[in-house]
Amino acid sequence: MERLILVLNAGSSSLKFSLFTVRTAGEMDAVAVGQIEGLGTAPRLKVKDGAGERIADEQWDKGEVSGHAQALQRIAGLLRSRFQGSVLAGVGHRVVHGGPDYAAPLLVTPEAMRRLEDFIPLAPLHQPHNLAAIRAVQEVQPDLPQVACFDTAFHQTQERVAQFYGLPYEYFERGVRRYGFHGLSYEYIAGALPAVAPAIAGGRVVVAHLGSGASMCAMRAGRSVGSSMGFTALDGLLMGTRPGNMDPGIVLYLLQQEGMSAKQIEDLLYKRSGLLGLSGIGNDMRVLLASEDARARLAIEHFVYRIGRELGALAAVLGGLDALVFTAGIGENSARIRELVCEQAAWLGIEIDRAANETGGPCISRGGKASAWVLPTNEELMIARHTRHLLAL
Ligand code: ADP
Repeated sequence: MERLILVLNAGSSSLKFSLFTVRTAGEMDAVAVGQIEGLGTAPRLKVKDGAGERIADEQWDKGEVSGHAQALQRIAGLLRSRFQGSVLAGVGHRVVHGGPDYAAPLLVTPEAMRRLEDFIPLAPLHQPHNLAAIRAVQEVQPDLPQVACFDTAFHQTQERVAQFYGLPYEYFERGVRRYGFHGLSYEYIAGALPAVAPAIAGGRVVVAHLGSGASMCAMRAGRSVGSSMGFTALDGLLMGTRPGNMDPGIVLYLLQQEGMSAKQIEDLLYKRSGLLGLSGIGNDMRVLLASEDARARLAIEHFVYRIGRELGALAAVLGGLDALVFTAGIGENSARIRELVCEQAAWLGIEIDRAANETGGPCISRGGKASAWVLPTNEELMIARHTRHLLAL
């Protein structure tokens, strides 16, 4: 009987999923990919099959599908009827925070759940939803094995010295340290490099994950040695709606001089800043690139400038640079942004190959001391692989 792995990625108002078939040998294939968005407002389910053909598009009243448990039941109902004769062997979850404890994915047990709940204060906007999805599966099928895969785990190889903030030492012990995120994406890229670019896989590589959330990771021989994100996913690069690295004094100023509440500042930093805040137009890079507006140009310029600054910092951590790899929505799809970033990185020895860049690489440089690449990421497949491995499927 065909065995399946379900991968879940639960956000505050969405539940994304991918269903993979497990073969006795070889890589798994995604046979269904979809999401319910608008939980709590206007829930809508969209599902495609492995070839990208639409297999469902349904909309409900917000009362009908209000939380993750109900969303999961709808998804389970649809998948059960479509994949009759197959058996669901396990569920893999994207869990944002593994805290200081977890450097690898783990099989979910009641004890592990209690520990993961301890990390809710470290990621209050994401962790509760990730754990809610685990509980929702437990309710529907208590005996189904579940695996938690952490966005922080890949960065646990970073040296201790890289994990500190300059706060009194006891804050480090209380968990206020640099963790880094997008780890599943970086792990996928690290795993793909030896086949695509064997000459650089063992070297000093900076990966730029440029999506609506954006970060960069410095890798030495495929292991994380530095990242632009730190204690939270607010740090580092300019993002779709987040400002990235900024002077912490600004938060004090907003609290003390402008009288903003913590909640208002949270909203400003997570939802109203970044490309959206600077441009005043939107957070979608495609829209900004197509715009003639001066503020759209400013937002793009600043986005690229910040990538350049971070690249310099990470190259310093690595003691030089052998390659720069672009991935995620903007990194994989925008030749223009890649070109701007590579031009700015000429001092590191990157010489862009414009024709290769236009067609998407994978190698988009020629000659030069350092090379540049485009590699699609696949966080869902990374979670499915971990789940398969831990469940020995
Ligand atoms: P996430 O998974 O973090 O939501 P993605 O990795 O899917 O994000 O990236 C989303 C971003 O990718 C959006 O800002 C979108 O504008 C951008 N993007 C997608 N396609 C293109 C493109 N062809 N050119 C420029 N930006 C693009």
